[in-house]
Amino acid sequence: MLTFKSSSLLFILSLAICGLLVYVFSISCWWFIIPVFLFKAAIIYGSATIQSNFYLKAYNSASTTEKKIAITFDDGPNPLYTQKILSILTEYQAKATFFLIGKNIDGNEHILNEIYNQGHLIGGHSFNHGFFIDFKSVNGFIEEINQTNHLIETTIGKRPRLFRPPYGVTTPNIASAVKKLKQDVIGWNVRSLDTTNDSTEIVYNRVITQLKPGSIVLFHDTSDKTVEVLKQTLNFAEENGFKIVNVDELLKIQAYE
Ligand SMILES: [Zn+2]
Repeated sequence: MLTFKSSSLLFILSLAICGLLVYVFSISCWWFIIPVFLFKAAIIYGSATIQSNFYLKAYNSASTTEKKIAITFDDGPNPLYTQKILSILTEYQAKATFFLIGKNIDGNEHILNEIYNQGHLIGGHSFNHGFFIDFKSVNGFIEEINQTNHLIETTIGKRPRLFRPPYGVTTPNIASAVKKLKQDVIGWNVRSLDTTNDSTEIVYNRVITQLKPGSIVLFHDTSDKTVEVLKQTLNFAEENGFKIVNVDELLKIQAYE
């Protein structure tokens, strides 16, 4: 598997080989561009693709033949949409996991209590979810995770162990922070892309064509489109024998400390 460690070793090895070839056979120094380019490409791919497990081990799906899947929502709590999502989940008796942004919690504590009391799970999704969050230091990330987990704990009385990195981007600093705080990182293997301009139909088809036993689906509780797609997806799941469970049940892990 291509990880940060293995690609760094490969990079150093290929630089050494290039150096040797330059020294012994006097080949052009331009050959150094190849390992530099490949290493850079690996870093970009690894950082942007949570499923690559490049810097850290994320749970992106479960290995099972049972028709169980988990549905997750990022970026709430949202006073306009989270409760609509909760009503649909209740209608279909489905459970979901909500990865919350800390700064959205103030004034929406009642939504957290509704999520929790209805048997869904709550995890952290950073405090600010800033665009440049991936440039934060280890301590910066620790603060982002702790601030959010503290607010969740003071509201529902449980401190989350589940964390989803904003944008699904990982860095060495995020890896260190989650390790120190003993957080389990939850990724996905079905990305709905529900925050794009794609129509309800396109998003729905994207989701159902990728569904398989053990899938973790990524939605955002931030639009009416997602509310509609969720309804259609739960219908599809019911008709095709998929059971919707919480990620802790799917992955056999602990959601709270
Ligand atoms: Zn997000």
